Amino acid sequence: MKAEIMGIGTELLMGELTDTNSSWIASRLPALGIELRWVSIIGDDLARLTEAFKRGMERSDIIFTTGGLGPTQDDLTREAIAAAFGETPVIQQEVVDDLERYFAARGGPMPQHNIKQANLIPSARFVPNPNGTAPGWWAERDGKIIICLPGPPAENHSMWEDQVEPQLAELIEDEVTITRNIKTFGMSEGAVDEIVSEFFGVENPYLGIYSKADGIHLRVIARAKDSQAAQVMIVPVEEAIHERLGEYIWGYDDDTPAQAAGQSLLENGLTVAVIEMCTGGALTNSITDIPDSLTYFKGGTVAYDGTALSAGGVPAEVMEKHGVVSQETANAMAESVRQRFNADLGVAVTGVPGPGEFEGKPLGLAYITVTDGKKTREMEMRLPPRRVTIKRRVPNQALIELRRLVEETR
Ligand code: ATP
Ligand code: MG
Repeated sequence: MKAEIMGIGTELLMGELTDTNSSWIASRLPALGIELRWVSIIGDDLARLTEAFKRGMERSDIIFTTGGLGPTQDDLTREAIAAAFGETPVIQQEVVDDLERYFAARGGPMPQHNIKQANLIPSARFVPNPNGTAPGWWAERDGKIIICLPGPPAENHSMWEDQVEPQLAELIEDEVTITRNIKTFGMSEGAVDEIVSEFFGVENPYLGIYSKADGIHLRVIARAKDSQAAQVMIVPVEEAIHERLGEYIWGYDDDTPAQAAGQSLLENGLTVAVIEMCTGGALTNSITDIPDSLTYFKGGTVAYDGTALSAGGVPAEVMEKHGVVSQETANAMAESVRQRFNADLGVAVTGVPGPGEFEGKPLGLAYITVTDGKKTREMEMRLPPRRVTIKRRVPNQALIELRRLVEETR
């Protein structure tokens, strides 16, 4: 099945908004066995949208769109499909009633503009939207399908998962695609590439390598007539990757460093506290993105100079002797925060985020320590001299080290 995705909205063309919807949908298609051929961005313009739908109907079996389903005059997705199909939209009273109830529950009347969200053409049906006012559209004509979802990710992700994906899976039975994403940290892309090079260049199972902020990911994609057969194709590649890269692997599939570290803490009934010198709260922020963090996270300290570290219990002698950015200071920070917060583990990061060098140490140098009071993991990092990179990578590495220490001692 050949597919295309259209991101709809002038904001996208102006570069004011990044089209994350299209890449999110794209990432969902291989598992359904749908082959994505094109992604385009189209502004809020009736003639251009109509033309895009006409062209899409010629070259694709299925078209996915996001955006342009709202109540305003520039939301034109419905109108463009009606024009491309030569059909006339008709207001559906039950959806008007739904909209009126939606607004009444929020304490006001429905704005008249919202009526257009109740429009439907004979070739389409609604995809209900439990989290917003704009229902989606599922249109079918001449064996082709157009599926339209609203722009906000919080609305379209759940509509996709609860409604679109199950219905598509029923439609497409001939082939399934299964992916396994294996996440490593601590080895360069080139080194990982070399170690698993013999698996590259094979079409099925396909092996891809991706460099991300949380390390190098290897993605195995297998296509077969059912999921069991696809799984069987993945196993030998995954086993070989394990054998060769085992100690560098920290997670799979949708795992994030914060979630993986949290999972280990939870399973072992341990708590953690952190102190961060060069990341401005980014480490604490990632940890607290995970709902379960309430169970295992005691708290974090964000320090930005030696005075703050002293107040946090880091001995001044250590900082004077070795510098604020040093492994010794990181060790003292980790142990002191562990004790002060009465946690099982302490994590510390210190480094030079710029603008220039600090204490004669180069921009991009960072130290991490994780300790449980007995065992300690230390790490020196030399990162590219970019603040955003440092703020992203240091917390990721610290969380991966945290997970490693917990797993080592379990
Ligand atoms: P609404 O009812 O909210 O107006 P809509 O279907 O009309 O929904 P748009 O008005 O196009 O959607 O976009 C609403 C919001 O959804 C945008 O401000 C943006 O935050 C988000 N959004 C829209 N398109 C995309 C996209 N392609 N990628 C990521 N976010 C998007
Ligand atoms: Mg809108």
